[in-house]
Amino acid sequence: MYADIIVDITHEKLDKVFQYGIPSELEGVLKVGTEVIVPFGMGNRETRGYIVGFSDEAEYDETKIKEISRAAEGSVAIEARLVALAAWMKEYYGGTMIQALKTVIPIKRRERARKKRYIRLLLEEDEGKRQLDLYLHKNQKARARLLAALLDQPRQEYDLLTKKLNVTRTVVRALEEQNIVLVESEQVFRNPIRRKQEGSRITDHTQEQQHAIDCFREDYRRGIRRTYLVYGVTGSGKTEVYMEMIGEVLEAGGQAIVLIPEIALTYQTVMRFYGRFGDRVSILNSRMTPGERYDQMERVKANEVDVMIGPRSALFTPFPRLGLIVIDEEHEPTYKSEQVPRYHARETAIRRAELEGASVVLGSATPSLESFYACKKGDFQILELKKRAGHKELPEVFVEDMRREMKAGNRSILSDRLKKLIEVRLKRHEQIMLFLNRRGYAGFVSCRSCGYVVKCPHCDVSLSEHRNGKLVCHYCGHEELKVTCCPSCGSPYIGGFKAGTQQIEELVARQFPGARILRMDMDTTKTKDGHEKILEAFASEEADILIGTQMIVKGHDFPNVTLVGILAADMSLYSNDYRAGERTFQLLTQAAGRAGRGKSRGEVVIQTYSPEHYGIEMAAAQNYEGFYDAEMRYRELMGYPPVENLLAVLMTGPEEPLVDTAAGYLKEFALRAGRNRALKIVGPASPYVAKVNDVYRRVLYLKGADLRLLIGMKDKMERYIEINEGFKTMRIQFDFNPVNVF
Ligand code: ADP
Ligand code: ZN
Ligand code: ZN
Repeated sequence: MYADIIVDITHEKLDKVFQYGIPSELEGVLKVGTEVIVPFGMGNRETRGYIVGFSDEAEYDETKIKEISRAAEGSVAIEARLVALAAWMKEYYGGTMIQALKTVIPIKRRERARKKRYIRLLLEEDEGKRQLDLYLHKNQKARARLLAALLDQPRQEYDLLTKKLNVTRTVVRALEEQNIVLVESEQVFRNPIRRKQEGSRITDHTQEQQHAIDCFREDYRRGIRRTYLVYGVTGSGKTEVYMEMIGEVLEAGGQAIVLIPEIALTYQTVMRFYGRFGDRVSILNSRMTPGERYDQMERVKANEVDVMIGPRSALFTPFPRLGLIVIDEEHEPTYKSEQVPRYHARETAIRRAELEGASVVLGSATPSLESFYACKKGDFQILELKKRAGHKELPEVFVEDMRREMKAGNRSILSDRLKKLIEVRLKRHEQIMLFLNRRGYAGFVSCRSCGYVVKCPHCDVSLSEHRNGKLVCHYCGHEELKVTCCPSCGSPYIGGFKAGTQQIEELVARQFPGARILRMDMDTTKTKDGHEKILEAFASEEADILIGTQMIVKGHDFPNVTLVGILAADMSLYSNDYRAGERTFQLLTQAAGRAGRGKSRGEVVIQTYSPEHYGIEMAAAQNYEGFYDAEMRYRELMGYPPVENLLAVLMTGPEEPLVDTAAGYLKEFALRAGRNRALKIVGPASPYVAKVNDVYRRVLYLKGADLRLLIGMKDKMERYIEINEGFKTMRIQFDFNPVNVF
């Protein structure tokens, strides 16, 4: 038997598996994931490595294979499980084992936690005073200073004290040797949560909440582990349900991970968990320094934490007794990694839960099609919350047809109805949110008179305007010339949509001179807490109107918001990928859900050029299932996920002709390798931004019902790329069922 070992994951170049022999005393002890010490290189330097597999046969000259020295000390079983997860990620999503390992064990060992040292007096007071007299008598001034200070306060911080008294290390050591003082080091962990807040626990659950909680509890107690989807309208109290489930898991001695999209990870949200579970809760966020993240992981390993809250990467928290992974807003595209391995947190969470005997709870008011489809197939258990908690009603929704506004002579960005409703709110001192939908906006071309949108005749997605003036399909590469008048109605008002949040702010300020306005977008949230500050200011009613992009859709409860205006609802509808309809429906429903969370019922105005599109119609009716049915018909017809699977192969390189040739070759190869298989290959196409920082990009798409077949194709292509010199200058990445267009 030989062990396959990855040596030192901090070296990208060593992305190779090395075979080592297993000494007899370690036989049967080693597992996949065990950390070991091995002799490495010419000098047989002792190096750390992870076992990623075992094999029976030697791949090189048997006499040259070295032996493992020993298992690394402090190598914990939890790391073994995470390494096993990494192995699965590499196999499933592509990339190298090192890239996968770095994803699941992201903190480098070199990063040391900041250690505080203390000097403690070991003598009783009288004894100490006698010693002090002795030092003074011998004229040992530094020792006397130190001892006097410690007699005042027997335990003080090393650095502070020595600096203040101006005593050297030698002096401290001398006292240490005389057994007068002790230098203690203490690991200090920078706990990101400072204040503690009393949690007002809701004991009166709605019937639906109670049913969901009971279902989970019963399963959990009986040892049943599975994936649940808490499908509950906005404001139905999903968080409350998660907390009860987590409580159940903690009581049974388990631990829980809660994934929340970064944008919704606000102080308010975190405090709800902290108020409930106290300081066994910890958080992660992307603004933390590597040191801060390392500290959090150390706290986990020191068994000080039972609930970890954070964005996607918190999924790899090294809990040894993981019982539950919650993924809130599971439909959010940020759960998909943009770096190799391009993993999806939902799929990876389900895999981790399988490996560790945990359950997964997904939650959303607008579930991803994948998850709802899985419920229909019986793979996930659905738990439904149809009503808002606390006797609150869903808001009333108006759809304003902007084509009609234009015909009536209103060229403004605000419809008449929205204008009037804003006036009413300002008079009543209620708050307003204006939401500019820009997600996935990629330069589609539409007619402002009739709403016509230019689409690809083959793929049924919008074409995007490229800088060279051509309209391009991002899936198949179809191109056509830009039009100057609408092919449908002949109107000259055809073109791209250009308004941004800043223009809207200016316009609204002119229209309502007395109103206090806050704007939230990439520009105003650049600083570390910018995002949180704006939300806080709006929550404490320092402004009447909040204007923003999708950033404002989640995270805070604003009880005084009674009106939500959605400007340019279509923008994401005609983004150039097959998820455009789904994304639009989700955004509109979530945005609308911001209204009426306080005492009075809310109103929502959706402004659109395509009121008849089912994505808009169903969002206005707040009818998820209606949307699901319509959207699934489209996915079935076009063979898009979740009905079939899509593998994107993204190729980038510094020379355009080379990238083109390589893309051509790879397509040829894929066609040959996939011959006689139920597989469709489209492209290569140029992504919207075909060239970024002097790097050219091409994408090839493979489409097929059988995911295993696509994974097999990925493996074959990876090998083909590896053995062909021609691909050396290029970077090639694989992405299964991408959630963003490249
Ligand atoms: P969701 O995550 O489903 O949008 P939340 O969990 O944020 O909903 O709950 C919305 C609001 O309703 C919160 O202010 C929460 O405290 C409150 N809430 C939740 N459950 C109940 C309940 N059973 N009774 C009264 N209020 C509740
Ligand atoms: Zn038209
Ligand atoms: Zn096309």
